[in-house]
Amino acid sequence: MTYSENIAKLRPSATVAVSTLAKKLAAEGRDIINLSAGEPDFDTPEPVAGAGIEGIRQGRTRYTPAAGLPELRAAAAEYMTAGTDYPADPARVVVSAGAKQSLFNACFCLFGPGDDVLIGSPYWTSYPEMVTLARADSVPVMGSEKRDFLLTPDDLEAAATANARGLILSSPSNPTGAVYSKAELAAIAEWAGARGITLISDEIYQEIYYGEGVKAPGALDLDPDRVGDLVVTNGMSKAFAMTGWRVGFSYTTRELAARMSALQSHVSLNAATPSQIAALKGLTRGEEGARDRDRMVAAFRRRRDLVARLFDELLPGCSYIRPGGAFYLYFRVDGLFDDEVTCAGDVCTRVLEEAGVAIVPGEAFGDARYARMSTASSDEEIEEGVRRMARVLARA
Ligand code: PMP
Ligand code: GLU
Repeated sequence: MTYSENIAKLRPSATVAVSTLAKKLAAEGRDIINLSAGEPDFDTPEPVAGAGIEGIRQGRTRYTPAAGLPELRAAAAEYMTAGTDYPADPARVVVSAGAKQSLFNACFCLFGPGDDVLIGSPYWTSYPEMVTLARADSVPVMGSEKRDFLLTPDDLEAAATANARGLILSSPSNPTGAVYSKAELAAIAEWAGARGITLISDEIYQEIYYGEGVKAPGALDLDPDRVGDLVVTNGMSKAFAMTGWRVGFSYTTRELAARMSALQSHVSLNAATPSQIAALKGLTRGEEGARDRDRMVAAFRRRRDLVARLFDELLPGCSYIRPGGAFYLYFRVDGLFDDEVTCAGDVCTRVLEEAGVAIVPGEAFGDARYARMSTASSDEEIEEGVRRMARVLARA
């Protein structure tokens, strides 16, 4: 069989691959601590799961419009624009099978051959692949390590090519957990707007935030008159503990939303109907929902503090970025390199083989000096995982 040029450069998701391998080894009876994929260890809150189940029982098991149930689009529009100067216009929202599909829709509708897309680096592993699937070229842009790799307009200006059409960022960042302040984000969005570059702002971790208030600053918090074209993506996976339900959404112009919906109408049509019903419940639970979120975020914050303390104590040679949000720790492993261990991939293989701990090598995020561990596991698993890693890495 011969394969299309469309997938000539395609590589499977490294985060998904490591996690799948870890689950397989565990199923074979090996003692594995899986700190690879970023997936909350909490169950979906019962009222939300119950709404999905009830939807199935009531026979709400048919297709929805491609862009999603009208009431869910409206709720997502409210959720994303609350407290901002952007309109809560449901026609600007497309509901997809996870924010992953929202991001893909955006890339596929906006970019094509000859286009360059700037990607804040280290980046979530799927961005460059999505850009490549659209047959555009990605241009990773790495900010200063001293600033936790957060970008400035100067970094972008130095990297931008004449064909730059888009910029993709996540804040809070996967993999670093670094968070842009509103002023920093405004400077970047204004730079992009002035250059005619569309900003794709991935805000899936917006509520997994350890700063002041309940949400990290987002692109919709900015002054609409000062920024250019935006696509903001968010979803139910992280703050609502709903990864497997597969519901994400995007907010952009009505025109782009219509195109993304048309694309989706041919590819998957709609996010699963019962999942959309559950998502609607998740977004409209008011105080009760806020309490569940606060409880989960408090646990993620406690684990962030725990993992930082353990690293300081047990792995003083590994410097790390102190996360302001999300649930990862991104740490340097190049101090451990020797003749045999020459990249983060080698370090992670050794950690999996000798310590039974699954973490993701920084190659997946564009930097082979680093590795990422998820802190969305129980306190006990995190503690045992870091202790085991330290035993192996101290010998390396
Ligand atoms: N963006 C980032 C930065 C992520 O870490 C994830 C996690 N899978 C996603 C988007 C997509 O999330 P989902 O498709 O589960 O909504
Ligand atoms: N986003 C999570 C991660 O980075 C889940 C896996 C994935 O979809 O990449 O680990």
